Amino acid sequence: MIGGGQAGLAAGFYLRRTGLDFVILDAQDDPGGAWLHGWESLRLFSPAQHSSLPGWPMPATGTEYPSAIHVVDYLTAYEKRYELPVHRPVQVEGVHRGGARLRVDTGQGSWLAKRVISATGTWWQPYLPHYPGRAAFQGRQLHTVEYRTPDELRGRRVVIVGGGNSAAQILADLSGLLGTHVTWVTRRPPRLLPDHVDGRALFDIATRRRAALLNGDGSGDGGVAGLGDIVAVRPVRAARDRGVLKARPLFGHLTKTGVGWPDGAHLDCDVIIWCTGFRPALRHLAPLRLGDRQGHIPVAATRAIGEPRLHLVGYGDWTGPASATLIGAGMNARDAVDVIARDLGARPVHRVRAAG
Ligand code: FAD
Repeated sequence: MIGGGQAGLAAGFYLRRTGLDFVILDAQDDPGGAWLHGWESLRLFSPAQHSSLPGWPMPATGTEYPSAIHVVDYLTAYEKRYELPVHRPVQVEGVHRGGARLRVDTGQGSWLAKRVISATGTWWQPYLPHYPGRAAFQGRQLHTVEYRTPDELRGRRVVIVGGGNSAAQILADLSGLLGTHVTWVTRRPPRLLPDHVDGRALFDIATRRRAALLNGDGSGDGGVAGLGDIVAVRPVRAARDRGVLKARPLFGHLTKTGVGWPDGAHLDCDVIIWCTGFRPALRHLAPLRLGDRQGHIPVAATRAIGEPRLHLVGYGDWTGPASATLIGAGMNARDAVDVIARDLGARPVHRVRAAG
């Protein structure tokens, strides 16, 4: 297994039940995956009991939605509880075909594996779209992954780019700061989910989609079309009620001092925060030459079509509905381990409740 974040741990949980021999190689010094790096005020968009990995529910928190630190504590305890064999820090440099087994090369030697599960997430591959003039802009540009606290941007004129949860939460964070001027730009008008809809509803939709896919219905229910994209967690609701959750259309180019629109409008700014998403972190799989133009690896369920000994878990809907969420990672991991157990003649994986 490559990657010891939530997806890797969920797969480890199921692998334990098969009796197969496995290791989890993780590049970081500490448990917690991407949750170690979120901004200070980051909140989950589901309550704890709906953000659990298989087997052991996430402990409740005093607040409506848990913080990133709470998730790190949960993943740390989860790893210990199930005695998962995580080796860290071990950076996987490349996976190679080498006879009957795949060879996993790391800075600390190589492993030979009958099967490899890649669960390296997306945080490590931030995506910044190309805009004319981006190199000319003399202010500061940062991606979601570099944002920590609003204080470091106090008194600045900030442009936030992107119409998703990260952008809305960072806008909410910054807009409460005296002296900071924030402009939000999105490709299409931002769509806020109704207050009563949170990650639980999104997960129910993903579960229906998975059932449809298992029944051979490829169309399924692809998402929350018509509902919206942004979960109205408390700070976002407060920002909406303050009237600051308003976006301008996306600019067309950057200048030395700011951003410009095709109609000639211009806005000077000091900082641009690109909340423009991520790509899967798959560089270690490059030697297998499986990637497509989108940077994905074509899969049938979780198995790579071009390399049947490789499974991908946790990267997003293309590896399984809601697989890039805490609760969805469990279903995705079980699907992968199920196939591996059958392939290798190991004990089958039985269904385990994901949440308490
Ligand atoms: P990661 O957490 O990124 O873990 C991957 C691990 O693999 C890391 O430890 C990394 O160091 C390691 N790794 C990477 N490359 C290598 C390599 N070559 N060799 C060895 N190790 C490697 N989900 C929810 O369920 N609820 C939410 O409210 C929610 N909010 C989110 C908010 C934000 C801003 C973001 C970005 C995501 C959010 N998510 C949420 C989505 C999701 O839960 C996270 O993206 C999650 O961290 C993905 O888990 P993972 O295990 O797939 O990857």
